[in-house]
Amino acid sequence: MYKEFQKHLKNQIEDIKAAGTYKSERILVSPQYSKIKVNTGKEVLNFCANNYLGLANSSQLVDAAIKTLKERAYGMASVRFICGTSDLHKKLEEKIANFFGTEDAILYASCFDANTGLFETILTDEDAILSDSLNHASIIDGVRLCKAQRFRYKNADMADLEKQLQDAQKCRFRLIATDGVFSMDGNVAPLTEIIKLAEKYGAMIMVDESHSAGVVGKTGRGVTELYNCRGKVEIITGTLGKAFGGAIGGFTTGKKEIIEILRQRSRPYLFSNSIPPMVAAAGVRMFEMMDETNELQDKLHANTEYFIAKMKAAGFDIKDTQSAICAVMLYDAALAGQFADKLLEEGVYVIGFSFPIVPKDQARIRVQLSAVHEKEHLDKAVNAFIKIGKELKVIK
Ligand SMILES: *Cc1c(COP(=O)(O)O)cnc(C)c1O
Repeated sequence: MYKEFQKHLKNQIEDIKAAGTYKSERILVSPQYSKIKVNTGKEVLNFCANNYLGLANSSQLVDAAIKTLKERAYGMASVRFICGTSDLHKKLEEKIANFFGTEDAILYASCFDANTGLFETILTDEDAILSDSLNHASIIDGVRLCKAQRFRYKNADMADLEKQLQDAQKCRFRLIATDGVFSMDGNVAPLTEIIKLAEKYGAMIMVDESHSAGVVGKTGRGVTELYNCRGKVEIITGTLGKAFGGAIGGFTTGKKEIIEILRQRSRPYLFSNSIPPMVAAAGVRMFEMMDETNELQDKLHANTEYFIAKMKAAGFDIKDTQSAICAVMLYDAALAGQFADKLLEEGVYVIGFSFPIVPKDQARIRVQLSAVHEKEHLDKAVNAFIKIGKELKVIK
């Protein structure tokens, strides 16, 4: 049998290559940081990691992890409800709820798991999920696993959401699901309007704060801080794999009965391993750091403003953003690819995105800012953009 299947797969791989969407991995041989070393020996400035607060390389988190590794050893070798729960896991869940101003929290191995384990656990075919069209793949998969009726609304389009909410009135319960920050544009979900519509039409709200937690809002508490509505959203999911240290782990936090039912019935929680104690301990330390100082958030926000102001002044077309994601619009797919390759030659690592990841004729380069970038890094990146931009006649 395999011979035929092999041919089938090889054809698919050829198709992917022909479409120009074949993904290859760039191999780092250094820690994740503002400057990274790749296996060709080249050192480049890194503007494409989700390391928004620079904590992936934090000595405080490394120390906390090493200490716990020595005291509690390597792994839990169990799911949470059998013998995979340590005091560190409980402490981390408490820290997460404190951070977001919510009632309780539950850990998962990833936010992908948190999202796939959410909807089917709490809703049935009598209910409705209203999902933003640009939501993350894990929300889409989570919604697919659930028997609730699906209503998809155009990205951040409140008129469309209202229409869908009207259609969903026949259902028992309604849940609006949205990313906090949409990762291709960097725009933030219009939570104030979403809350108004939820109140008007009787709906609950789920926000995935993966790209916004630690980043958005003055103290990085996410979109509920930005819109001054902490505690008003029933469900928040998020990851420990981006701003929060970049290692592994996800969570759902919100109303305590929701979290309680997830502990009873959520499949990725019940049937997948507990995160390592060292990761839980580093997570606890990370949330302590967030309470001690706002330095990292302040620096990230200053870096983002600085970079965007310089790029706009240079004449680049930048999408409006309220996050640390900056989309430099080039529109043409080939141009975006060429631009990113040339920037890499200049020692600046960014990624060009084109169809099907973003809509046709909306190709762009995505720049992700971090608190570990220094002014010289930002200047070097802007200057490289200007040099290549002139060379490719994107700017004058
Ligand atoms: C990155 C991301 C995830 C996945 O997080 P992991 O913890 O890496 O599984 C989920 N949702 C959104 C919106 C994300 O950006």
